[in-house]
Amino acid sequence: MNLTVKVLIGMALGIIVGLAINLTGMNGAGSFANEYMTNGLFHVVGKMFVNSLKMLVVPLVIFSLICGVCGIGDIKLLGRIGTKSFVLYMFTTALAIAIAITIAAGIGIGEGMNATTTAVFTGKEAPPLTSVLINIIPSNPFSSMVNGDMLSIIFYAILFGISLLMVGKKAKSIVEIFELINEVNMKMVGIIMVAAPYAVFCLLAKAMADLGMDLLFQLAGYVVVLIAILLLHLFVTLQLVLKVFSGLNPLTLLRKVRNMQVFAFSTSSSNATIPVTLRTVTERLGVDNSVASFTVPFGATINMDGTAIMQGVATVFIANVYGVDLGMSGYLTVILMSVLASIGTAGVPGVGLIMLSMVFAQVGLPMEGIGLILGVDRLLDMVRTAVNVSGDAVVSTIVAKSEGKLDLAVYNDPDAGLFGDDEIHMDLAAEQELADAVRATHNKT
Ligand code: ASP
Repeated sequence: MNLTVKVLIGMALGIIVGLAINLTGMNGAGSFANEYMTNGLFHVVGKMFVNSLKMLVVPLVIFSLICGVCGIGDIKLLGRIGTKSFVLYMFTTALAIAIAITIAAGIGIGEGMNATTTAVFTGKEAPPLTSVLINIIPSNPFSSMVNGDMLSIIFYAILFGISLLMVGKKAKSIVEIFELINEVNMKMVGIIMVAAPYAVFCLLAKAMADLGMDLLFQLAGYVVVLIAILLLHLFVTLQLVLKVFSGLNPLTLLRKVRNMQVFAFSTSSSNATIPVTLRTVTERLGVDNSVASFTVPFGATINMDGTAIMQGVATVFIANVYGVDLGMSGYLTVILMSVLASIGTAGVPGVGLIMLSMVFAQVGLPMEGIGLILGVDRLLDMVRTAVNVSGDAVVSTIVAKSEGKLDLAVYNDPDAGLFGDDEIHMDLAAEQELADAVRATHNKT
């Protein structure tokens, strides 16, 4: 059984077990299930797994990006890849939210509902665009690495890579070492993936046991419309964009990104999914590391199609519930704000709500409205994160194809780069070779 199947089984079982715990009322505070399962085993295993993914993100991005820049070897080409991916990321996000607003407003979602809520939303504020721009350049790269500030890490790594290129021949050995480190990092992703089916089970069992279905039914209209538009974007819009801009068969991509989507779904974090996205895009889809190492972390930070769809649907929903008429200019403002907000906010759980509060402030919708949808947001966050990372994979593939950096043989091979248990078993010959090399160095010293 390959890993994708195992992960999907883990996901399904997690949902079943979590819902069973919730529906039977076993999850009450202080109960055995609550103490030892949802907040015990499931919580610990799930969090340990998410941590181990996050652990890989910063080193993986830095080394793969430096190698990527050296691999491109041409600063002009780098600029082209940057511009193309930026434009496509913004384009797909704007498209997503425009479609979302059109459909949600057409259906008249939320009309006739009464606004009664006690939940209050208190989130951090989204950073203003000016400080996003300033902070792209790190005043201290190490603190950026410590804090995981993706845009400034990308900036530093690219500059480092360019400088290595300019130093030329003398720097060759450093580049080789970095390439090795990059390979080792990728291996680490493979090792951690072995635990994925169990961890995904735990993450979903906990989420479902905590959430249950009650709230979902209460806000059924909002939830159903939002999920339908998310799926529409994932299966139709993004695939059309892929077909139109690259001519590739979208079904091939859809089949290969399932694993990555499950990770995004279980972790609700595009950032934590970077290692899996990078691995999927390069080894399953055949995108050259020189492109993927840039487009993937960049996309995790600035590209949020799913989140934008949520903003569109939520705005229409709350405007209708509170009887506010936003008008054409109001909706255009929402589109613009959502696209801009997605640039400055990192792909971490719940960030969509922060962006939403920024949008609400701009168009004058009541903040209490966010309290109304707060309860169901955790689950919707999972679905939209899966859409977010799918957008990253699609754009990476388009950009790679347009630059001749897509290995079509890999793209078209259904088994290319499958995650497997064999990842952790080192090739016997390689093991022997390594042992001999170590012995040889020992003898020398
Ligand atoms: N969790 C989402 C992501 O990581 C962002 C959001 O919509 O809250 O992409």
